[in-house]
Amino acid sequence: MIEAQTKVCQNCKSEFVIEPDDFGFYKKIKVPPPTWCPDCRQQRRMTWRNDYNFFIRKCDLCGQRILSVYSSDKPMPVYCPKCWWSDKWDAKEFKKDVDVNKPFFPQLKTLLNSVPALAILNDDGIASVNCQYSNYFALGKNCYMVINSWKVEECMYSVCLVGAKNTVDSAVILAGGEHLYHAINVDASSRCRYAFNSAGLLDCLYCYDCRNCSDCFMSIGLRGRKYYFKNKQYSKEEYENIVKSYSLQTWTGSERARKEFEEFILQYPRKCANIINSVNCSGDYLVNSKNAKHCYITVRVENSKYFERGDTIRDSYDCLSGGEQELCYESINPDNSYGALFTSYCHKDNEVLYSDSCQSSEHLLGCVGLKSSKYCILNKQYTKEEYEKITAQLIEKMKERGEYGEFMPASLSPFCYNESVAQDEYPLTKEMVMFRGLSWQESFTKTEGREDVSEIPDDINEVSADIIDKTLACFVCKRNYRIIEGELRFYRQNQVPVPRVCFFCRFAKLYKERGPVHLWNRVCQCSGQTSSNGAYENTTSHAHGENPCLAGFETSYAPDRPEIVYCEACYNSEIV
Ligand SMILES: [Zn+2]
Ligand SMILES: [Zn+2]
Ligand SMILES: [Zn+2]
Ligand SMILES: [Zn+2]
Ligand SMILES: [Zn+2]
Repeated sequence: MIEAQTKVCQNCKSEFVIEPDDFGFYKKIKVPPPTWCPDCRQQRRMTWRNDYNFFIRKCDLCGQRILSVYSSDKPMPVYCPKCWWSDKWDAKEFKKDVDVNKPFFPQLKTLLNSVPALAILNDDGIASVNCQYSNYFALGKNCYMVINSWKVEECMYSVCLVGAKNTVDSAVILAGGEHLYHAINVDASSRCRYAFNSAGLLDCLYCYDCRNCSDCFMSIGLRGRKYYFKNKQYSKEEYENIVKSYSLQTWTGSERARKEFEEFILQYPRKCANIINSVNCSGDYLVNSKNAKHCYITVRVENSKYFERGDTIRDSYDCLSGGEQELCYESINPDNSYGALFTSYCHKDNEVLYSDSCQSSEHLLGCVGLKSSKYCILNKQYTKEEYEKITAQLIEKMKERGEYGEFMPASLSPFCYNESVAQDEYPLTKEMVMFRGLSWQESFTKTEGREDVSEIPDDINEVSADIIDKTLACFVCKRNYRIIEGELRFYRQNQVPVPRVCFFCRFAKLYKERGPVHLWNRVCQCSGQTSSNGAYENTTSHAHGENPCLAGFETSYAPDRPEIVYCEACYNSEIV
């Protein structure tokens, strides 16, 4: 029986634990145990993914002006999706001879710098219509700046949506919804704004963990209620007058409501984690899973760990985004793959290692942009026997050099640190990024300084149609932004005021409100009759009686957070 081992992270020098089950997994996929801690590994993977920093450039094959996640100063050519997926070019023409005795990553870097990259992960013009400005995106209609989403219509400025319609500034909508504004982890709901961790809502405003409710405003933990304000029942007329009194169609009114709501729900306990119908799991926003640890925004996950954003995952560790996959490790988007190790955007692959953007392939090592290929190293074709012999030698040498078993270094990533999602989760200053030998993107911060409209009307009904022709300036970061036509239509239809902040700041807020991708060990803050800070008085007696609960749990609420965090049992006792 192998025992848990405490190791020191070779990157940040903090301690981390490798559990007995983890050793079993590493053995199964024949990789040495990691030398970096889970956070440093996640940060390194995240440097390989740019969700929403887009650049206008030209396609290096057809010459058209396109939108891309790659700025025009990147070393490799960039092709628009139509060109990249076509047979007008062959990634094997960029092949390199591998030298097993030389460090592997510089050899891979040379290939990464020469093979054409796919401008954006978006099927616009193929299976999607009018969704050009979206990334990691499929099967949509009329969407703008929607990331990591599919089967969506008329959505804008959102992340992780499945089946949503007419939704703006929202994240983690996995089972549909429509007319949602600023909703996070909300399912099967309609005409709601500022809704969090809720399901089955209709016409609800500023609600947290409410289920099957309609016409509720500024409430938390309600089940099957109607005409509730601040968790109290009102008549229909009273309720309507209260909502009206907030003037939510104005910026000042909606900001006042938001602040009041945030203060109001702070007096109530929160559940330590959003885990539904799952056994032996930890993480947040986890549904229908078994033995899934440190998993976030994941559905149907089994025997997996350190996963963010996934659906139908078996025996996989350390992945960022993915679906229908098995035995994958340290990979980004290894969708429909088996045995993808240390890969980025490799789909429908079988036993592919250290590769980027390879599709429908098997037995590849260090390849970039290959489609339907087999037995290749650095894009060069070998016979099965040659491939097996060279990969065995190469892996042995890589192990000796401490290269094998680690994800591709951040220094190989095509993205500057502040273009990547690492900057959202692990923000660094330019100086810190340079100190680490990574690159920093300057060009997208240069859209400041213009302002056509110094004052946007407070009330959405007083905003004139020509606002879509104007350049606005974000009052938080000064960056310029615009309101697009569909967006204005949404605000008017849903009586939402025009935002005073740019979408970069709004995205940052969404990521922040969704919570960190990290767990802390904490103890239930129920002290018997009240919460331990005295702010909340329990409404029923709990199984632990008048003594403090003391149940331990893992939660994404950091210990210094102001929220009252209860264990699942105490929370369920309070929420009827
Ligand atoms: Zn570390
Ligand atoms: Zn093209
Ligand atoms: Zn801003
Ligand atoms: Zn408790
Ligand atoms: Zn309790």
